[in-house]
Amino acid sequence: MKKQIATISKKNSNYSMVQLIAQKRDGFPLSNSEIEWIIENYTSGVIPDYQMSALLMSIYLKGFSKAETFQLTKSMLESGNILPNNDSSIIDKHSTGGIGDKTSFIVAPIAKAVGVKVPMIAGRGLGHSGGTVDKVEAIKGFKTALALSEFQTLLEKNGIVMCGQSSEIAPADKKIYALRDVTSTVSSIPLITASIMSKKLAEGAAGIVLDVKYGNGAFMEKLSDAKKLAESMRSVANLYGNHCYTIITDMNQPLGNMVGNALEIQESIETLKGNGPKDLTELSLILSGAMIHLAKKAKSLKEGIKLAKAALQSGKALAEFKNLIKNQGGDTNVIDDYNQLGVSKLTTTIHSTQKGFIKSFDTKKIGYLCIDLGGGRKKITDVLDLGVGFDIHKKIGDPVKKGDPLVTIYHREAHQNILDDLKNDFLKNIIKFSVKKIAKPKLVVATNLQWSKK
Ligand code: URA
Repeated sequence: MKKQIATISKKNSNYSMVQLIAQKRDGFPLSNSEIEWIIENYTSGVIPDYQMSALLMSIYLKGFSKAETFQLTKSMLESGNILPNNDSSIIDKHSTGGIGDKTSFIVAPIAKAVGVKVPMIAGRGLGHSGGTVDKVEAIKGFKTALALSEFQTLLEKNGIVMCGQSSEIAPADKKIYALRDVTSTVSSIPLITASIMSKKLAEGAAGIVLDVKYGNGAFMEKLSDAKKLAESMRSVANLYGNHCYTIITDMNQPLGNMVGNALEIQESIETLKGNGPKDLTELSLILSGAMIHLAKKAKSLKEGIKLAKAALQSGKALAEFKNLIKNQGGDTNVIDDYNQLGVSKLTTTIHSTQKGFIKSFDTKKIGYLCIDLGGGRKKITDVLDLGVGFDIHKKIGDPVKKGDPLVTIYHREAHQNILDDLKNDFLKNIIKFSVKKIAKPKLVVATNLQWSKK
């Protein structure tokens, strides 16, 4: 066991980042004032990315205690403005990330249609997972960078906003999130807790529905870790007097069929029109039902889901999504004309070479392949191609005949030379078959509702 390095003066907060990295690297805890100093100085640009990357990797490897996690969340939250959480009808939803996870575009307008105000501050792609902000930018003109005053006006006037972190709200998360995306430091319970909760607590929501994903396409592969993450986020919510509903859901295969930024917007609009895939529709109704319940517009989750279903079926939720697009400067023609999304016209379909039943996916790999096509970042400065991705035609448990289409790749001319590799990857490594019937996985595996006593 290494000895802790010389104690750093806690009084003048004139810490050395080099020593703090070593402290965490060697498994020693960081104090509240050290964490506060790091976040303040990284957010203001004093600490460079390379030192923060090293610290993030140390946290990833050595972990953070509950106390360190609370302090990290607090410091990240306090890096920007914090809106009061005194309006019980303001409720948000956030997912811990996965492949094809596009429920935000369905859930937010459904909840809004039932009278919930939704202040959704989201993120861009993260690790192998896509991000709400990148996806919604596939809609021509949709503005995701909002000043605090714009955010507040939109929420007050329209009751629904969808944007990214900014220099005014959750600025620490904006920077750390972008860095984690490209430094393989995402799958960490304390880092995810602080990232999600710092932005959700800043936006003035009285309650938060957290879709905590587990499985081989999630940041928490094991159910036990997903439960720990859910518990970690609930305890932070409790500390700040926020209602919190954690819903642990399956991410052992893509959610819905489409994977890729613009394709996912297209599938979300289809779902709002009532034509969505079963799993995506079902999960969206559960999550929006939970939001409706947290906003006390329904006495139970069951009643919330019923109201959500009615909002979806009546077309009200679709109208709310159209309003959201209009209010944030987007081209509402997208609702009826998907051409403007810029989905690549060049497609290649992979057909099954065997018969049987779909047994499993290497879901994370699908996310990484989408990044390889240009749909995600390998470096902070990368510019995305929002029009690439995959349409996954079969799901776990589906019967497959030889020659059936399995996956359609939306790609560009420049990808011609990697198409054979992609095809082999899908057929040999990503999709596994069974000769015997396979049961469909359970979509929702655990729920935990926590009302704040404050
Ligand atoms: N979503 C976030 O906002 N942050 C994470 O770290 C993971 C998912």
